[in-house]
Amino acid sequence: MAGYVRRMSEQPTPPAPLEPLPEDWERALAVVAHPDDLEFGAAAAIARWTRQGKQVVYCMVTSGEAGIDGIEPARARELREAEQIESARIVGVDAVDFLGLPDGILEYGVALRRAIAEVVRRHRPQIVITNNFRDTWGGQALNQADHIAVGKATLDAARDAGNRWVFPEQVEAGLEPWDDVAAVWASGSPQGTHGVDVTDTFAAGVASLAAHKAYIDGLGWADFDPEEFLEGWARQAGTRLGVPLATTFEVFPFGWGN
Ligand SMILES: [Zn+2]
Repeated sequence: MAGYVRRMSEQPTPPAPLEPLPEDWERALAVVAHPDDLEFGAAAAIARWTRQGKQVVYCMVTSGEAGIDGIEPARARELREAEQIESARIVGVDAVDFLGLPDGILEYGVALRRAIAEVVRRHRPQIVITNNFRDTWGGQALNQADHIAVGKATLDAARDAGNRWVFPEQVEAGLEPWDDVAAVWASGSPQGTHGVDVTDTFAAGVASLAAHKAYIDGLGWADFDPEEFLEGWARQAGTRLGVPLATTFEVFPFGWGN
């Protein structure tokens, strides 16, 4: 018991160093539940990659229409789709797919996997990006049900896409199976082990979040400052990667033994 007590009173160990993510790829697909999900961390990394000439496509599973308490869903959908398209443009992304599934009540399962596998087969990415789908953001900050459903379904769908006998109606309709996804990367996971240096593209990431103006106003967080908010996280991650500013990802590699 004495040893246990002594260990508990020692300084907490500093967070583990982050490994840089590979950048030897050309096409990524980012699949998230809501407009704004990519802008709380991943967008600055996406800006870096598009500046390197990589192609990144966004897919929003919902249009975030249930996300603004004071605005009814039909109007919120229009506002949020427009804000997401602008937000994507700021970080060099010209293509944003909206699947139109219902915001707030997504269910993990075959239907969601089917919808996402179809998008993977259409865009044929080497890397698939999604949001944290662990139960929390770290500590006690609970994750949201749509994020968890979409992250899990995206991980499955990235593999489903390669099997012609899974969702074969898509193959019959002319989409080829796609089995070249090397990994799924989940942004903002509390179990993130990898990082991206966003020192040069941090400002684009901030502008990309600020583009969600109706949403941010609707949150009712007095004086929410996108730059201040993102900078706190980016500095912490930067320390772990050995650069001024970074963002984190949890990596789910496909294939065997890597
Ligand atoms: Zn969300």
